[in-house]
Amino acid sequence: MIAGSRNQKSVAMASATDAPAIKQSELSPSISDEVKTTTCYMCACRCGIKVHLKDGRIRYIEGNRRHPVNRGVLCAKGSAEIMQHYSPARLTKPLLRVGPRGSGEFREIEWDEALATAVDWLAPVRASDPRKLAFFTGRDQSQALTGWWASQFGTPNYAAHGGFCSVNMAAGGLYTIGGSFWEFGEPDWEHSRLLLMFGIAEDHDSNPIKLGLSQLKARGAKIVSVNPVQTGYSAIADEWIGITPGSDGLLVLALVHELLRAGRVDVDYLARYTNAGWLVRQDPGAADHGLFVRDDDGRPLCRDRNSGELMAADDAAAAPGLTGEVVLGDGRRAVPVFQLLAERYSDARYAPDAVAGRTGVAAATIRRLAAELAAAAFDEPVILPVAWTDSHGRRHDKMVGRPVSMHAMRGISAHSNGFHTCRALHLLQLLLGSVDVPGGFRYKPPFPKPIPPAPQPAGRPDQVSPGQPMAGPPLGFPRGPEDLLVEADGTPRRIDKAFSWDAPLAAHGMMHAVITNAWAGDPYPIDVLFMYMANMAWNSAMNTADTIKMLTDRNADGHYRIPKIIYSDAYASEMVAYADLVLPDTTHLERWDCISLLDRPICSADGPADAIRQPVVAPDRDVRPFQDVLIDLGARLGLPGLVDDDGGARYPGGYPDYLVNHERGPGVGPLAGWRGADGDSHGRGAPNPAQLERYIENDCFWQQELPAGQRYFKFANKDYLDYAAGMGFIAEAAPVVMQLYSEPLQKFRLAAQGHGPRQPAEHQRARIEQYFDPLPFWYPPFEEEVADGRDFPLHAVTQRPMAMYHSWGSQNAWLRQIHTANRLYVPAALAVAHGVADDDWVWLISRHGQIKAQVRLMQGVNPHTVWTWNAIGKRRGAWNLDPQAPEATHGFLLNHLIDDLLPDRGQGYRYANADPVTGQAAWYDLKVRLARAEDGAALSEPQFETLPTPPGLPPRPAVLRYGERDRRRRS
Ligand code: SF4
Repeated sequence: MIAGSRNQKSVAMASATDAPAIKQSELSPSISDEVKTTTCYMCACRCGIKVHLKDGRIRYIEGNRRHPVNRGVLCAKGSAEIMQHYSPARLTKPLLRVGPRGSGEFREIEWDEALATAVDWLAPVRASDPRKLAFFTGRDQSQALTGWWASQFGTPNYAAHGGFCSVNMAAGGLYTIGGSFWEFGEPDWEHSRLLLMFGIAEDHDSNPIKLGLSQLKARGAKIVSVNPVQTGYSAIADEWIGITPGSDGLLVLALVHELLRAGRVDVDYLARYTNAGWLVRQDPGAADHGLFVRDDDGRPLCRDRNSGELMAADDAAAAPGLTGEVVLGDGRRAVPVFQLLAERYSDARYAPDAVAGRTGVAAATIRRLAAELAAAAFDEPVILPVAWTDSHGRRHDKMVGRPVSMHAMRGISAHSNGFHTCRALHLLQLLLGSVDVPGGFRYKPPFPKPIPPAPQPAGRPDQVSPGQPMAGPPLGFPRGPEDLLVEADGTPRRIDKAFSWDAPLAAHGMMHAVITNAWAGDPYPIDVLFMYMANMAWNSAMNTADTIKMLTDRNADGHYRIPKIIYSDAYASEMVAYADLVLPDTTHLERWDCISLLDRPICSADGPADAIRQPVVAPDRDVRPFQDVLIDLGARLGLPGLVDDDGGARYPGGYPDYLVNHERGPGVGPLAGWRGADGDSHGRGAPNPAQLERYIENDCFWQQELPAGQRYFKFANKDYLDYAAGMGFIAEAAPVVMQLYSEPLQKFRLAAQGHGPRQPAEHQRARIEQYFDPLPFWYPPFEEEVADGRDFPLHAVTQRPMAMYHSWGSQNAWLRQIHTANRLYVPAALAVAHGVADDDWVWLISRHGQIKAQVRLMQGVNPHTVWTWNAIGKRRGAWNLDPQAPEATHGFLLNHLIDDLLPDRGQGYRYANADPVTGQAAWYDLKVRLARAEDGAALSEPQFETLPTPPGLPPRPAVLRYGERDRRRRS
């Protein structure tokens, strides 16, 4: 309005003076003739966006202010989405390999031939042994579909990328508090007074955490970041703690030690909401040693503080005692969980002075931090005048909270000790009474869930049959050895060995082990490797060079050891050259998609939400959405859920048809909003033919706000639990008791000690016994034990830049200008000691290999750690970049230095380089040494043969800028 007034005035003046007309600047030009809403896919935050279109082309993208995830904020990645869409690396047509695998020689084929070829390969596998299909997806946001499709096919060999990303964090949380950080929970941004962050990546957890941090800063809350590197969020924190990689669990347990020493724990919270008072049988050598004492109905018992009698711990009248030994009726002893943990963590080995050297954090800092946590939690509790009813039906007139919140991500997760570190962090939260209380960490619905959550993984021998679907999903949460996927002799049932004795709680699978195991035929050979969006020939693999060899290796008869590889991607990534059949995907702006409560939701702590993507433009190439292709393939293969009673396609309309009409359970489908014939139901309801239209009318998202009385204490909040059961989030409205002490872990330990019908092999017993400790503990990352500390004294880690999300972002013309080539960041003092200056080239050497990289000196980094940005280095020719692109000549990957297997420790067997509980890839365990490169060549190493451009792609552009093609057309 002001601009308009000014314009009117200037026009009037021009007229009055009769001067020559002045050309007015167009201050608010109309940039579009149409605006469509959808959901960003440039990282995993899934913000709402508005896409401006002009003449049918995408002209501009902005954040949607109405959207619950980002409230209008758009990051650099989201702003550059337009260049992702118009990338010259987009595949254009299905491809069939004609040269040797890896040569990049393909011929273009039609979709009919592509789909017929896939069916020709897959149908015999399903008819004989469905496990010979290994179906693994990368940063797939449609796992509710892809996992279900694998079940329908009948193979347990399915997972997405969680096993090499953050399963330690997810499993650590789900086995402890029934939820976890990030997608399943968030800090109470509104009330927290102290936020403690561990290993937070700046790319995935992007706009929501930026909004939250600014909210904390505006209120003057303190932010402490624990991270070896002081970038991004660590750089704006009030305090940065430059911890030594892999020692976070030790720091956390030292904080626990200090809180226990000072008596600063929330005893009432522990007794009410956790298993701190549950009695644990103490009878070493017995088959039930370390299990909970239960009544005849299986209810855990406690000793009532008032009567001294044993009572069911879930009895409303029980006041569980937290200490003191109990002699049971059979004369055996039991003690409460809290006593066990207090004894363990009060030990001097967890004292600040004892851990300071290993963690690199001064003892005084640890003591001060513990005191600050306690002060923030207990000295000024947050009290909300909000009434609520607990699961025993008791009415509370207010909500009292501990304003200490925590947040963690991959930095603590991607270690071989990550599962226990994540559990330790939740233990710390619980001692402070700060889970799902005002000011603390908050669950996002549909969490919390029972501990461990349902279901269990399917794939046992009786669950896999030729030509049949599996009885359940391939991924889940084992409750004990009985849920493992192993043969009678203990051999793993899955190609990645998830849910075997190698990694019993591998809840997200072990994608990083698939190629090595398939190549070795261990535990069995497969026939078809089918992958989606997983750059396994480059930055998504450990041991990259050997992975490439495995993909191309042949048997003595000349056939490939991995016989057939089908790959789907939107872009000409490094992996494309290793496929036999390429199914080109669309970009995310050309397809329907679903961000589902059945999958990885976008809820907030104040209520559930889900979203869709709608096509904002039609593809201009012969490509198809992968989800449509998968549904089509399923129908052609006759998979039960994908064909109707007459054998015709059940979802002839493809993915949008499936989104609306598929029901996972009665009334529960991929989308929770506007269900029922008239669209008035939410959560549960019959399919609504107009559901997608309703989403589009609401800017492509659905959201529900919980009443104030349901927003905290969700684990024991009667009204919330009733609501959650009604929505189908949980099977019944029972309270979730948080598990400081994990009985499932103890069951595995007992098996290793020789109890029960299912036990590990001899060579596996010690490992299971050690790492299946029912209480969190810290041990050095495996690499520190196998790599000699004198030869390899330094830690090497990657960080993820805010402006890029894996290899997608680092081929984006606009984002490449921010991070064109990565450097090896070296602590300044360390560089001086090595005679290395800025821009020098160095060798970085691990027990597995060596790389050459260019250096940048830095102050804000742990003194024993070097680091670089992740996934910027590219193979020459990949992504349709110039072979002389800086990403290829100067960029580099740490992946070449990381072995995918641990050395044989005299057992004749090599375990995956992973956490022994969950199988999480231990990327950040890497140990190295540094040496000046004297050869003078300004070229990163290793270098590989240049990949040719796949058929159908445009010539590699010398200059890439938005609108360049249009400009050339016009001129
Ligand atoms: S934070 Fe992620 S989802 Fe949100 S705009 Fe940025 S890239 Fe897109």
